[in-house]
Amino acid sequence: MRARAVRVGALAIGLAAAGLAVWKPWLTPLQRLARATARSPFKVLVVGIDGASFRVMDPLLRDGRLPNFARLIERGTRTALRSENPMASPVLWTTIATGQSRKDHGIEGFVVYKDPRKPKRGTLVGSEDRRTLAIWNIASAFRLQVGFLGWWASWPAEPVNGWIVSDRLTSDRWNVWAGGRKTTGRTYPDALTAELSPLIVDPMSPPMDEILRMVALTSDEQAEMRLAERPVFGHGFSVVKFAYCSQRSQEKMALHLLAKGQPDLVGIFLVANDPVSHTFWHYYEPGAYPAVDPRAAARLGTLVPHMYEHNDAYLGELLKRVDESTVVLVVSDHGFEASGQLPAPKPAEKLFTGPEAEAAHMRGEIAVGQSGKHHIEGVLIAAGGPIRRGATLQAGLLDIAPTVLAILGLPVPTDMEGRVLEEMLDPGFLAAHPVKRIDSYERLIDRKAILAAARADGEGGDEEKQELLRSLGYIQ
Ligand SMILES: [Zn+2]
Repeated sequence: MRARAVRVGALAIGLAAAGLAVWKPWLTPLQRLARATARSPFKVLVVGIDGASFRVMDPLLRDGRLPNFARLIERGTRTALRSENPMASPVLWTTIATGQSRKDHGIEGFVVYKDPRKPKRGTLVGSEDRRTLAIWNIASAFRLQVGFLGWWASWPAEPVNGWIVSDRLTSDRWNVWAGGRKTTGRTYPDALTAELSPLIVDPMSPPMDEILRMVALTSDEQAEMRLAERPVFGHGFSVVKFAYCSQRSQEKMALHLLAKGQPDLVGIFLVANDPVSHTFWHYYEPGAYPAVDPRAAARLGTLVPHMYEHNDAYLGELLKRVDESTVVLVVSDHGFEASGQLPAPKPAEKLFTGPEAEAAHMRGEIAVGQSGKHHIEGVLIAAGGPIRRGATLQAGLLDIAPTVLAILGLPVPTDMEGRVLEEMLDPGFLAAHPVKRIDSYERLIDRKAILAAARADGEGGDEEKQELLRSLGYIQ
């Protein structure tokens, strides 16, 4: 009897195994892969901070001024994240999101030149200029919920299983410089645009109280910031205002969206540290320049460290809204250092031409230029779930996407050029969830259809949109 029971048991197991292998012609290869993939129990939150650098963070961490970053580091791993030259943010953030280098993902700068009749007129890069899949496409295809907000080159927002708030919903400095705000495709789903628009912080009525808590501007400087109607390249007061208002908008939107539920994979991008570091670094590190007025440095040099404290406090808000199973990755696309060059005086009437130029202080000469420049080492801080405490490792931008997929339990494509950062993952996790490999997702996930759906969103009818999503496998 016992032998027979064993045989029946073996037969049942054999049938079950065969059942798994039954070819279901009505499923696409992607759907078959998705059904065969057991995801991990962890969610992932990627917090992207443009230009964050340990060169600024370390002294602040020592002084206890970044408690939320400190707790993550204490619980997990930190390392310099190696960037790639030339360091243009849209290129680097696309590398982070795709695991591909610029020659493959196709985003090679801030603008593209598409119109042969106007060869000098650039358009701000967008999702249609990206040639390869991003982690939000891949996770969606496995029907994981995703939410990305403010990522460089994410307009028009691609359809995902969740939400995307593109980098064109707010009035950012780059939107103003190249391409302007857009009226369609700013979010996915399109209806989010109306829901989130009330949260936009208008750069023409900036939260001066918040800004003044970070830096003690004189009344003339405050007026220079408040009145600026567009960001003037290298002019700290105007670019910082536009970037800060854009970041504050996106911060509020992220908290609003997370309050409705935490997707499996979230990416929140914080932009303001970059323009603050570009334009206020000579006050932060006056010794690296030939002559900086020490009193101006003492007063204006607080903005750089206070921006880090601001981001630390906001990180604390984000962490309150994610559950215990969340792996947090704080990443930056590059670091910062002194350029050694001070902003140079330029005639104000050449910089400001609108009604803002009427203000008395906008006359004469105004200093413009970038005293801070990108440094090759960004930051990676990881904690939660299978992240080991105090692991030592070397990491680069290309490694983020494959590592995120591995933490989620999704197959890692070998056409991603980086590697899974296994040194920072618990061996028990790796044993239970061995890294699965696949050649590529590019043929499995129809990127053309995604882009077609991105264009249809906001214009096409609901039925048409649903049909496109069905064809992508997001819904059935
Ligand atoms: Zn920059």
